[in-house]
Amino acid sequence: MESITFGVLTISDTCFQEPSKDRSGPRLVNLIHRDFQNSSIITSCLPDERDLIQRELRKWIDRQDVRVIITTGGTGFAPRDVTPDATKPLLDKDCPQLTMAIALASLQKTKFAALSRGVCGIANNTLILNFPGSEKAVVECFETVSDLLPHALHLMGDEVALVRRTHAEIQGTDQAVKVDSSPALRGHVCPHKTGAGNDHDRNSPFPMLPVDEALSIIFNVVQRSTELDKLVNELSSPVNIPPFRASIKDGYAMKSTGFSGTKRVLGCIAAGDKPSAYALQEDECFKINTGAPLPEHADCVIQVEDTKLLQRDKYNNETLVEIMVEPKAGLDVRPIGHDLTKGDAIFPSLDASPVVVNSLLASVGSRQIIRKPKIAIISTGSELLSPKDSPTVGKIYDSNTTMLEQLLTYFGFECIQARVLSDSIEAISDTLADLFNVVDFVICSGGVSMGDKDYIKTVLEKLNFQLHFGRVNMKPGKPMTFASRQQKYFFGLPGNPVSAFATFHIFALPAIRWAAGWERTKCSLPILNIKLLNDIILDGRPEYVRASVICKSGQLCAIVTGDQISSRLQSIVGADVLIHLPGSTSIKTQAKAGDIYSASVLRYDFISKYE
Ligand code: AMP
Ligand code: MG
Repeated sequence: MESITFGVLTISDTCFQEPSKDRSGPRLVNLIHRDFQNSSIITSCLPDERDLIQRELRKWIDRQDVRVIITTGGTGFAPRDVTPDATKPLLDKDCPQLTMAIALASLQKTKFAALSRGVCGIANNTLILNFPGSEKAVVECFETVSDLLPHALHLMGDEVALVRRTHAEIQGTDQAVKVDSSPALRGHVCPHKTGAGNDHDRNSPFPMLPVDEALSIIFNVVQRSTELDKLVNELSSPVNIPPFRASIKDGYAMKSTGFSGTKRVLGCIAAGDKPSAYALQEDECFKINTGAPLPEHADCVIQVEDTKLLQRDKYNNETLVEIMVEPKAGLDVRPIGHDLTKGDAIFPSLDASPVVVNSLLASVGSRQIIRKPKIAIISTGSELLSPKDSPTVGKIYDSNTTMLEQLLTYFGFECIQARVLSDSIEAISDTLADLFNVVDFVICSGGVSMGDKDYIKTVLEKLNFQLHFGRVNMKPGKPMTFASRQQKYFFGLPGNPVSAFATFHIFALPAIRWAAGWERTKCSLPILNIKLLNDIILDGRPEYVRASVICKSGQLCAIVTGDQISSRLQSIVGADVLIHLPGSTSIKTQAKAGDIYSASVLRYDFISKYE
């Protein structure tokens, strides 16, 4: 059984005054722990005050994690018993049969159960059950609903695969599945049967995962390269930087024991020259350039600005110079190994930027090449036309191949093969089998939704890939699919160009970076807080809205890039960020201009306008 968060709310004036008198709340907590071993429980105790009860319920309903709230107390006929009255206005759906099931079971024990007015219902995907206040009643009511709860929650969450499994369990249709449901439920026929895989089945059989859960599956499945870690932990410099004492300035190299005043200029030392072994005297110096090696017997450089040229010879070479400041040992000299000493670690910490890694490796003369994940792109769809071809009736230009190639390049990775395929099981299957001989990742678009030509999931199963998820609670990008076989990874992005764009950034890019050895916190796009400049109606699903960033006196503001329909590629024009909007709730249906939301930064040049 998956983990469920419960809320247990004791409602009683007495228990509120003296919490030690609350026996029903703690009893419920024990029962929940007994039947739902992975569950988390939050608890609270309130007096019989309608407003307080509603406020607490609303708070819990709005939490993403709380899936069941059980109240105990305040369901009777006394004037202060207001729990059902506080609950009812919050419900999106009544569940009268569940109320009746509890009532019937309780009535079998005592006819006084008729004096409970408790209700059951659903508010923003949270199931709320009002139980009476007595400890005995709480136990009876909980026993009645306990084994119904998992199934109810799967149905509420549209988790059709799990619903199917429960049906198989309780109807005994799937002998392979462990039957652990109540005997009372066997033989039950659900009125809501769905996800059965036949012609009447209009639902995806994949549970709808939250984005974070899908991402954490990806990070668990994809194997991270340790090559960059090894660079940090094991690679020491084979050279000193600088390898000789180098002048930091254009000036004159001399002995610091000689004083200021007039000195003879013996010659010029340029960067790239060998260090001079000449037995330099205190009244002599060499003209020297930045980066040039100091003469063996010199120990300081006086910059040209602190000198005066006194004499040149007939060939225009400097012969006499006045040193106007007192020389000091070590002045403007970079000692050997100053920047990096031979044998020291080249990388003080992990930094996956190819600019950093490759330039540091170059600085020590290393020819080591860091392997990047090998990636191929596939676009599927019989309607797809190459941008090079003339328009054809019934066809559309394929933008995803170009977009995904460009995105890989933008983020420093490379597409080593790109294929465009028609909706054919054979073509997709053969190409995937072929590509996975060469590449680590295939990033595919199209063919993952519910159409009868959407073959990707079928092909993956045929090729013995493990499908980790096939639906994510997000907009755009719901049918996002991720599968793997050993260390080969398949990302099935939805075909609509904007869905492919969003899911690439949110799932495929972090996976590729992770595989390349990046730190986990760096794999996803950076996130910042941004102020909305538009009102936006919230969708039922959490939404990733494309927006331009305007910097108004230092405050980052976001303006939505027009119609957000997932086919409209124009919505990525000027899109600096993806604003993370939550799904709508009974209480909050709109994001308001002026509200602050977090947003993923899509590009390096992410500020479109300064005001
Ligand atoms: P699918 O995900 O295959 O159901 O496709 C969803 C929508 O995206 C359809 O309208 C397709 O025509 C469109 N589409 C699929 N692939 C591409 C592509 N490579 N370029 C542009 N549009 C596409
Ligand atoms: Mg298609």
